[in-house]
Amino acid sequence: MSEFDNPTFDEAEAVERVTEMMAIPGKSGEEAKVVEYITKRLRKAGVPAKSITTDNANKKSHRKGDTGNLIVKLPGTVKGPRRLMMAHIDTVPLCVGCEPVRDGDYIRSANPETALGGDDRAGASVVLTSILEVLKQKLPHPPLTLLWGVQEEIGLCGARYVAKSKLGNPKLCFNWDGGNPGSATIGATGDYAIEVDVYGIASHAGAHPEAGVSAVGIAARAIEDLQQNGWHGKIEKGRNTGTSNVGVVEGGSATNVVTPHVKLLVEARSHDARFRSKIVDEIRKAFERAAKSLKNDAGKAGRIEFHADLKYEAFALKRTEPVVKIAEQAIQRSGLEPVLGITNGGLDANWMVAHGFPTVTLGCGQEHIHTVDERLNVTDYLDACRVGLLIATATV
Ligand SMILES: [Zn+2]
Repeated sequence: MSEFDNPTFDEAEAVERVTEMMAIPGKSGEEAKVVEYITKRLRKAGVPAKSITTDNANKKSHRKGDTGNLIVKLPGTVKGPRRLMMAHIDTVPLCVGCEPVRDGDYIRSANPETALGGDDRAGASVVLTSILEVLKQKLPHPPLTLLWGVQEEIGLCGARYVAKSKLGNPKLCFNWDGGNPGSATIGATGDYAIEVDVYGIASHAGAHPEAGVSAVGIAARAIEDLQQNGWHGKIEKGRNTGTSNVGVVEGGSATNVVTPHVKLLVEARSHDARFRSKIVDEIRKAFERAAKSLKNDAGKAGRIEFHADLKYEAFALKRTEPVVKIAEQAIQRSGLEPVLGITNGGLDANWMVAHGFPTVTLGCGQEHIHTVDERLNVTDYLDACRVGLLIATATV
């Protein structure tokens, strides 16, 4: 087919839309204004109020927050499996106060103190643009579910706690969150969040240091053990791979006290669930060994408390799955080169797949996210809108 057959859309309006959406403050847990913006536009385009709901994902998440996920369910005008299009509407806190301005082929924040929020208002705008164009142009479409998720940035909470029963059993799911509009992420790693509390024994550091056991000393020994044995940072053991990172160390209050407690926040990732558990195990053992190895003059040692929580499970879609094929075709039809990939980060798609909804994640022009240098590549964003419209209309 020639590209002549592709539906077209109002590009200026699409750029204006994403600019407006990025200007709305809405860090994780404070997405209500974004929900309001989207709802208003959907209603104006003729979507009946009864087709628009929010769920109570926020009530189930640790952050609580002012709104749940925004879910829109539309019947099809043509037959076909239900398609779901999604993007998260929260941003990292660094985006609050951003002033999006056009700068050549980019949009950036005129406020140098903030990020932009293209992550992921660009994705949210791709989904909104797709459906508004479908309605405006009265384009034939299969049954569609639109999901604007909350609280992605604080641990994929919107997708994790989404009201599955409200989604209408979608068979093919597409998530916009990333850079290159030609990229289709079909797998992602799984991640453990680990908290280690290291307890030493307090004593006066000047008068009786020998009576104490330093929690700092235990932690240092454990980290060195992990480092020495290849369990910290990039991990390669035979054909098994993963990563780990001691990201936060907190503790101590004075130099004249042998530190009785430090808390460490650690993560462990691997695409392989068994190897991921093995990494967690090695981290626990290193801290246990370290705690046993340091003793005070009375022969007493410290101890540790260790908690590991699975933040999200890994997934990998087969290249032959319909959802992957459709994503690939939509990218090709938009004149782009499909790049199928697996990521070492977590995505809302991790939870969607865990819920039984096969989900491919596509790019939408984000660059340098989570930094004050963040910008949106306008050409890439418009290409993502094109991909979105092809998917919404089941042209592919
Ligand atoms: Zn994102």
